[in-house]
Amino acid sequence: MLSLRDTFGTLKKHMERAPVFAETPETLTARLAELGTPAFRAMQILDWIYKKRVHSPAAMSNLPQSLREWLDTTFDFAPNEPLAREASGDVTQKILQRLRDGSLIETVIIRAPQEGVGVERSRKTVCISTQVGCAYGCRFCASGLEGFRRNLTTGEIVGQLMAVCRMEDAAAGGHIRDGLASFDNIVVMGMGEPMANYENLLSALKLINAPWALGFGARRITISTSGVVPKILELADDLLGVRLAVSLHGATNAVRDQIMPVNRKYPLEALIPACKAFAAKHGRMLTLEFILIEGVNDTLEQAHALTEIARTLHAHVNLIPYNVVEGLPWKRPGLTRQQRFAQELKVRGISVTLRREKGHDIDAACGQLRLKAERETLSP
Ligand code: SAH
Ligand code: SF4
Repeated sequence: MLSLRDTFGTLKKHMERAPVFAETPETLTARLAELGTPAFRAMQILDWIYKKRVHSPAAMSNLPQSLREWLDTTFDFAPNEPLAREASGDVTQKILQRLRDGSLIETVIIRAPQEGVGVERSRKTVCISTQVGCAYGCRFCASGLEGFRRNLTTGEIVGQLMAVCRMEDAAAGGHIRDGLASFDNIVVMGMGEPMANYENLLSALKLINAPWALGFGARRITISTSGVVPKILELADDLLGVRLAVSLHGATNAVRDQIMPVNRKYPLEALIPACKAFAAKHGRMLTLEFILIEGVNDTLEQAHALTEIARTLHAHVNLIPYNVVEGLPWKRPGLTRQQRFAQELKVRGISVTLRREKGHDIDAACGQLRLKAERETLSP
């Protein structure tokens, strides 16, 4: 058994090492140059990490022993430790991950069955977190309930996907697929407000997109924001080519103010033009997300106001039945009411989907699994 001192020593060692998943050919080459190691080693190392997906430098058999040792003492190759995994039927799998400082985050795999084909041929999406907790405090959301702890680093954001890749490799009997080949989409809709951790997120997305790393197409990545206007405008200029989803949840300031504090800073008069600017620069449809909460935003007036906004923006509307959060008063409207709301938009020519509920039984809405885990740990 490890003594307390050994355990502390191991923890300290991990915390001192930076996650390797933030390195690029340029940063790694510069570090290697300081050691007098030739530049070609950088690509060899990245190849081991992303293409051959080894878990530790010990397995990098074409590198000199001294270089492997340096890698081992300098970098953390497993900054995200998958803990629990919860599944809801064949549709959703939620992976609780522990970071080196003990923080918990969530990564979700969603399989959306396609019409007429079995789960085998379903579309597979991975949903990643960007922060531990969230400072935005939307009234209906579990992520913000215990406040904000910290931003994820670039390496931890990419590390979530690497942990998922490793789990998938293991499930395929060690057979390694190219990059994230088994996934169709990445959505940045887990815990946290992505735009509030913009720099780290952008570095992570560049890496996820880079051919020498995960090589995942930008157009298959969607960032969801609660409406941080300056960052929407910045992202429009960054030309990464990722898609944008805006969490609207209220089609008038009165309703939005009630449930999303961010609306007081960036009300609809600021948000809608920013969305318009983004769509114009990217030349593609953005998505408006609208959680249906009983008695709050599920009225016909809201449906009509939402129609106007969607029309102005040429946006697709994704209606999401609210996932009940323990301890919060909000409820999901009945199916008939959900369908009637959707129909109001549809008959007015709006492209709309009413999302089939996914993973309700495993607390699929962002932040809920972590909240439960933390409360269980904290409770006597
Ligand atoms: N902070 C970003 C991204 C993370 S939240 C954002 O707000 O867009 C991802 C999505 O889950 C958002 O649309 C959010 O409003 C929604 N969400 C949060 N709690 C929910 C719940 N209990 N039920 C359904 N959707 C929820
Ligand atoms: Fe934060 Fe998004 Fe939850 Fe709002 S909905 S509290 S922005 S994670």
